[in-house]
Formats: sequence, C-alpha cells, structure tokens
Amino acid sequence: MIDYVFAPPGIASVLVAEGALFPVRRVFCVGRNYAEHAREMGSDPNREPPFFFMKPADALLLNDADMPYPPQSTQLHHEMELVVGIGAGGANIAEADALNHVWGYAAGLDMTRRDLQNAAKKEGKPWDMGKGFDHSAPIGLMAPASRIGHPASGLIELKVNGTVRQTSDLSKMIWSVPETIAYLSRLVTLAPGDLIFTGTPENVAAVQRGDLLEGVVESVGTVRTRIV
Ligand code: MN
Repeated sequence: MIDYVFAPPGIASVLVAEGALFPVRRVFCVGRNYAEHAREMGSDPNREPPFFFMKPADALLLNDADMPYPPQSTQLHHEMELVVGIGAGGANIAEADALNHVWGYAAGLDMTRRDLQNAAKKEGKPWDMGKGFDHSAPIGLMAPASRIGHPASGLIELKVNGTVRQTSDLSKMIWSVPETIAYLSRLVTLAPGDLIFTGTPENVAAVQRGDLLEGVVESVGTVRTRIV
C-alpha cells in the first residue's frame, strides 16, 4: 500500500447556515465587476470581458474569526463581495442553465494587499501575492439556493467600526452571476465546491489593526471579522 509521506491537509470548507459543511475546491474571483469600482481603480468601466484570479482554498477565514494583518503590506484593503458556491460542475455551461449549477451563496471579503497588487500591475506581474495570501478570504455562512433562491438584486454593504464604507446593489454587477458562470466555465471545467467571489462595488479602502468589518448581502447573509 502506498501511503502519504505526511498527513494530508484537511478539506477547506464553509459552514452552511443550516449546519452542514460546504467543501471547497477552488476559489475564483472576478476582477472589476462594478463600474464605479473599475473607475476608482483607474480602469475603463465599459463592458470588457470578465477576468479572473484565484485564491487558495485555505485562504478562507470562517465567519467571526479574527484576521491577522498580513505581512509585507501597509495597505490592506477591504472588498465586499457576493460569493457563489458551485454545487454541480460542468464546462461550457449555458447562461440559461447556469443557476442550476449554484448550490448557494455567501457574503465574503476579498481582502487585498493593495500596495503589492498595484506594484504587480505596474510591472505586468501576477496578482497572487496581492490577493491570495493567508486568511485573505473571510466568508460568512452559506445560504442554500433551495432556501433563498438566486438574488440578482439587493443591498450589498460593508461597515467598518459601525460606519458604512461600501454600499451598492447586486443589480449593478457588470457581469451577472449566470453570465460569470457561463464565461468561467468556458475557461475551466467548474467542479462542485468551487467558489466564485463576484467582485466588489466602489469605495474600497484601507483597514487597520483593531478595525471591525461587518458586511451584509441582502437575503444572503453576513460576514464579520476583526483585523488583529
Ligand atoms: Mn475583489
């Protein structure tokens, strides 16, 4: 019998509101999916094709856990996002069929070392160390689509220390959830357990140690973390 050379890592997972675990395979993120955020990042808000980057599954930080301020950065930014949990995989998924592949939704934060990301952008280098660092993906409880349906509109908001920092509506996404799933599934074969962070609205900004981040996506749920 062939054995592992050391104990294999546990399976990253997100807690479902009803008390089960959603096992996570991969974490995809959409860049610049709200026009006002594209503008504030100095990009063209017109409907250019969506683009994707990834975070490792073990970057997930489960709800209410503290987030350690990451090393090698002095510009940690919040990005409040709707997260889609894929339940049924597939390639070349049709837009009209895309929502049948969704198991549920969660509120999440695409935490970003903006200084490292900006330096990478400037030099045409990968974003991984700006985006995919340890604990960079706080996420709340997942709500099954069988209970909440598929929200295409509704408030998405983030408070920092009780003050609203980001507020928008899911209907302002440039690429809708079905369009995003269809597009991504033409690039990779989606699998059960894949998460898609669907992009952030405007007013991303820096946080400091001690700050309390509380996000909500209407009809989906909340995400909460303190920077320590
Ligand atoms: Mn983002």
